[in-house]
Amino acid sequence: MFDYIIIGAGFAGSVLAERIVNKLNKKVLIIEKRNHIGGNCYDERIENILVHKYGPHLFHTDEKQVWDYLSNFTEWDIYHHKVLAFIDGKKVPIPFNFNALYEVFPIELSCRIEKKLLENYEYNSKVPILKLKQSNDKDLKFLADFVYEKIFVHYTAKQWDKKPEEIDSEVTARVPVFIGKDDRYFNDKYQGIPKEGYTSLFQKMLNHPNIKIMLNTDFREVFKIDQDTKKIYFLNQEFKGRLIFTGKIDELFDYKFGELPYRSVRMKFETLEKEYYQEVATVNYPNNYDFTRITEFKYIHPVETNKTVILKEYPQKYIKNQNTPYYPIFTKENQEKYNKYLEFSNNFKNIILVGRLAEYKYYDMDDIIKRALEVFEEKVK
Ligand code: UDP
Repeated sequence: MFDYIIIGAGFAGSVLAERIVNKLNKKVLIIEKRNHIGGNCYDERIENILVHKYGPHLFHTDEKQVWDYLSNFTEWDIYHHKVLAFIDGKKVPIPFNFNALYEVFPIELSCRIEKKLLENYEYNSKVPILKLKQSNDKDLKFLADFVYEKIFVHYTAKQWDKKPEEIDSEVTARVPVFIGKDDRYFNDKYQGIPKEGYTSLFQKMLNHPNIKIMLNTDFREVFKIDQDTKKIYFLNQEFKGRLIFTGKIDELFDYKFGELPYRSVRMKFETLEKEYYQEVATVNYPNNYDFTRITEFKYIHPVETNKTVILKEYPQKYIKNQNTPYYPIFTKENQEKYNKYLEFSNNFKNIILVGRLAEYKYYDMDDIIKRALEVFEEKVK
């Protein structure tokens, strides 16, 4: 019947489905819990404005291979994401850079700090805030403490319910202090937004007679994993093909080693009767309100209309069966729990695990596409 069954129609599952049918000419069934494909990249129109239903997704990569691969399924609009942070009544560029420096401090102090930054770091380099905080120089320590307090502490408390030191250092390093004047959020070589949106890109990727898609279906309704015999059953028959699983690894194995924790986000969309609401696509509010940021989608997909749609993101604790698991919480303890699941999964020779939820990893879109292409070469082919 099917050579491969894939659980989840986000990037991990969809890239693998596409490769399997086009390169191996095998049959694939995708099972997806939601009523749509595209995972968290899913977009749809509100008031004719294309919005990202699961939060802003801006494509950026340094990997030509990933850019070329996706270009098979979409044309691109050039788009360079800009973010401002609202601090002390001003909106300054994020990542915090020289332009932000001159906006928040008097000119003499800004000049002195800029000079010191250039003596200590290369122009156009990125310095994680927790690194900058270790500086012995009085002025650089002053800057680090300011940025830490005004931009990181309270945002991170909202987003993770933790202090910046308590989460994996890679997370805050995603938004470094930038030693230069580039106001863009990302500096990758390739940046853009799919011309017709992500949903359309996924439709093209999955449009193949050998791909069947079953929406609105929790895999547990159709699959049974026998943890003793290590056999898997699809609709009560033993499935001898390969199962590519992109969902939560703890759910796959019935939480036998306990739950893996996540952060969730409540997405609140608002339609406003005005042409524009804010200055750029995203404004972060580290110190005010319960939401972390507001994104205005007209900046991402420009369209002529007198209305605008904004999204406020309210971070939440993830609660099983109630909200969406967005961000793995990367602590030593959670990593150890994940490792137990991973080790157990090695007993199942026909299960392949890939994706943010299955690998418990904070993958960006380009990272997961790269990973899925690697998994295809190394484990699927
Ligand atoms: N962050 C922060 N203040 C900001 C922006 C980011 O403290 O204004 C921290 C916060 O801990 C956040 C992390 O940096 O979770 C990564 O931010 P990014 O914008 O990359 O997160 P994403 O877009 O994936 O939610």
